[in-house]
Amino acid sequence: MELQTDICIVGAGPGGTLLAVLLAEAGVSVALVERHASVFKEFRGEHLNEDGERILEKHGVLEEVRRKGMLLMKRIEYMEQGQLVKTVVPDEGHAHVGIHVPQKHLLQALFSRLEQNPNAKLLTGVAVSRLLQDANGVVQGVVGKRGEEEIVIHSRIVVGADGRYSTVRKLAGIETDVIRHGYDLLWARIPAPEGWEPVIRMTLAGGAQLAMFTQQGGFIQIGWSIPEGAYTEMKKQPIDSLVDTLVEAYPDIAQPAREHLRSWQDFVLLKVHSSRAGSWVKDGLVIMGDAAHTMSPTGAFGLNCALNDADTLAGVLISAIAAGDTSADRLAAFERSNRVPTEALQKRQFEMEQTFAGQFGK
Ligand SMILES: Cc1cc2nc3c(=O)[nH]c(=O)nc-3n(C[C@H](O)[C@H](O)[C@H](O)COP(=O)(O)OP(=O)(O)OC[C@H]3O[C@@H](n4cnc5c(N)ncnc54)[C@H](O)[C@@H]3O)c2cc1C
Repeated sequence: MELQTDICIVGAGPGGTLLAVLLAEAGVSVALVERHASVFKEFRGEHLNEDGERILEKHGVLEEVRRKGMLLMKRIEYMEQGQLVKTVVPDEGHAHVGIHVPQKHLLQALFSRLEQNPNAKLLTGVAVSRLLQDANGVVQGVVGKRGEEEIVIHSRIVVGADGRYSTVRKLAGIETDVIRHGYDLLWARIPAPEGWEPVIRMTLAGGAQLAMFTQQGGFIQIGWSIPEGAYTEMKKQPIDSLVDTLVEAYPDIAQPAREHLRSWQDFVLLKVHSSRAGSWVKDGLVIMGDAAHTMSPTGAFGLNCALNDADTLAGVLISAIAAGDTSADRLAAFERSNRVPTEALQKRQFEMEQTFAGQFGK
């Protein structure tokens, strides 16, 4: 299969998909390519802050997400040995301290807009593995595979929205600085007890951050910081002492925790790192979202940054296509706008990680 389009976006995560919607609705032809057959497969952050909320509102996506289901967090509670020691409530005039948006609801809301648009083509189950480039290295499209079938997409601009391990970034030869944070994260999900309020909770358990996020649909997500690389050794031990620590920290979830956390398979490991790509553009190519700047999970900024990139990049790409100028110089307007604020957020994540214990007066 071979096709021609103005813009080819690799990666149907929240960033790539919002960008596809904005381009298609502005009359630009766009192909959105995703390696998974089902776009809901990838495990992602689901907590939206006010920046992400503002962008979804601006583009008329939030109402549909609200209709499908989302949950406003009422407060953040800091606990110490099972006791509440501090509460953070929304600032005056604000309704929440964050929103839980199931990724399925967000992506479905975006896909329903794409499906109605004749300028958009969604290709799922296609893993991109090669860039098309002319003799001067100008990027002109991608090649991917769906099973044995080769898919060739010719485009004026390629966007790498393919996440933290971006293939597009590697194929383009863009270097990236990987920053270690000294911890990995264990994730688990359990049903919320009856009458559970929509709150975020934080505590220190054995010196490690242990967070709980209420989720839409009656669930609690647990995020547990463990020393980087410690998982292999931890897994050799029975799960019981981990669950005991959790229950000690949050006694009111004892029943669902003991019932639903029975083996290591009930946890998912996230290897934590952040990164900064040396450049976000080349002639005919842009990278965005986690591909350009992977965020650590602290503060839940990654999803919001990816949406913000889509918002900024759409305007830059629409004018580049209209002007017939797809040079790195032209595309760098996006990097000039978003790199400094994004790197400031990465710095803030480090500070938040280093000062976390201070929240408990230690
Ligand atoms: C466990 C966890 C918890 C997190 N918590 C939060 C949170 O609460 N709030 C928050 O704001 N952020 C959070 N984050 C970060 C957030 O998920 C990411 O920053 C965000 O998803 C980045 O969006 P993206 O569109 O750039 O890339 P991604 O969401 O990573 O999407 C990239 C897409 O590209 C596809 N792809 C990859 N390679 C190819 C290829 N070769 N060909 C075709 N397709 C390809 C992938 O399958 C994927 O669908 C969390 C991350 C994790 C892992």
